[in-house]
Amino acid sequence: MTRYIPHFVGGKQLEPTGGRVADVFDPSTGQVQARVPLATADEVRAVIENAADAQPAWAATSPQKRARVLMRFVDLVHQNMDELARLLSSEHGKTFDDAKGDVMRGLDVIEFCIGAPHILKGEYSTEAGSGIDVYSMRQPLGVVAGITPFNFPAMIPLWKAGPAIASGNAFVLKPSERDPSVPVRLAELFLEAGLPAGILNVVHGDKEAVDTILTDPRIQAVGFVGSTPIAEYIYATAAANGKRAQCFGGAKNHLIVMPDADLDQAADALIGAGFGSAGERCMAISVAVPVGAETADALVAKLTERLGELRVGPGMQDGVDYGPLVSAAAKARVEGLIQEGVDAGADLVADGRGLVVAGHEGGYYLGPTLFDHVTTDMSIYREEIFGPVLSVVRAADYEEALALASDNPYGNGVGIFTRDGDTARDFAARVNVGMVGVNIPIPVPIASFTFGGWKASGFGDLNQHGADGFRFYTKTKTVTSRWPSGIREGASFVMPATTGEGH
Ligand code: NAD
Repeated sequence: MTRYIPHFVGGKQLEPTGGRVADVFDPSTGQVQARVPLATADEVRAVIENAADAQPAWAATSPQKRARVLMRFVDLVHQNMDELARLLSSEHGKTFDDAKGDVMRGLDVIEFCIGAPHILKGEYSTEAGSGIDVYSMRQPLGVVAGITPFNFPAMIPLWKAGPAIASGNAFVLKPSERDPSVPVRLAELFLEAGLPAGILNVVHGDKEAVDTILTDPRIQAVGFVGSTPIAEYIYATAAANGKRAQCFGGAKNHLIVMPDADLDQAADALIGAGFGSAGERCMAISVAVPVGAETADALVAKLTERLGELRVGPGMQDGVDYGPLVSAAAKARVEGLIQEGVDAGADLVADGRGLVVAGHEGGYYLGPTLFDHVTTDMSIYREEIFGPVLSVVRAADYEEALALASDNPYGNGVGIFTRDGDTARDFAARVNVGMVGVNIPIPVPIASFTFGGWKASGFGDLNQHGADGFRFYTKTKTVTSRWPSGIREGASFVMPATTGEGH
């Protein structure tokens, strides 16, 4: 019997009324393990209506009470952590520990959102004019949406839902149809934590569902994370329909290795950040940039040595470093890009193609792949590969390395390994990329800061989480009031100003 992953709407699992479905695979075996309904436009509109009905009462609930729901949710997630991580690994393929990390980085943001009563506080100025006080407040937008990718099925939905619901909105989540179970489970736990029905809804689907969200006038804001072409489409379509949008796209993250760096530390960092989660992270390092031929030769030797020790297998198996890719199509695409690298003349130091994992022959595994002498005209440099493939682009000096990362069309994350404070400081100030690591390979900022890439990695002016998460899902109202009301100045025909007579 095929298992169906239900929508979660109005506090209940909802069986589909439409006909279209998609298969959900177990990437470690290549077997279909469930089916997910792809919502029709009518179904999505019904979800939005449900959310719109529930939202006013939630907005009228005090921020403190809303925060308490989030507190209980954090406890419940901890109690259910192993189950969530197992479910996540079974649909995504990442290892059990990495799946727990996915959930934990989402919870970090929920914990930050528990501070909503403080974050939502407005500003107040007294005696802005005679008897005049000015204050501001942040109000929820109403019904808002999140459209999220397959690679962090817990973290990114929570990054969106946390600030949205803590600020008093109702939230419609359209998660990836490739690993849709964890978002539903999280929504159930929110309900158990006391979130009113209809405030967090999960609707599965593809372009039809997304386009309905983008065009329905009741949706006020759309937060998106996924590939760059879709990010651009969502940003433009949401804006054309009068909605706020923040859309985060793909990446090509460089790690610069200076000649004075601890090369063992840099090699370890590159292995973890390049191959962890099979390279399916938007903050994965896909380009290593050693500075100087000597650094490059030594670094490539150290990387090659370490690659031989990596264990690739099913995510739930002990001792596995990374699991399969998410789908057969993803695997075929990455293999095609590897071939393009070979054809373009890059030096294939380690070839991960053809890896067979005994007992899991149908799984979407790809061994670690390393290219040296990659140049910027090659497709393996220009395109986001999103697989376990690391390219070494050799730079002659620091300025060339800096320019490489800065000139790349993507601008999500970047790192530098060096022992020189002057170089590190100069790099952080000048590099044209949104998130920078100094001797840190994956510089995902903590929840109280904001996360967001530049250039083709991010569209919109506000980042995710931190204060920006709340700014995105709220609007500011500013009130100018005069008390005592008895002050009479007569009618004035000039623009009120704080300078000049009369104030
Ligand atoms: P994707 O763009 O294929 O899908 C993302 C979402 O968009 C999914 O919910 C999907 O159903 C929907 N979608 C797909 N095609 C659509 C279409 N034609 N019209 C409307 N909606 C559509 O991305 P993915 O493969 O799920 O995720 C991987 C990508 O996400 C990578 O490029 C990765 O770098 C990026 N990513 C970026 C960040 C970041 O913060 N910048 C974080 C994680 C992942």
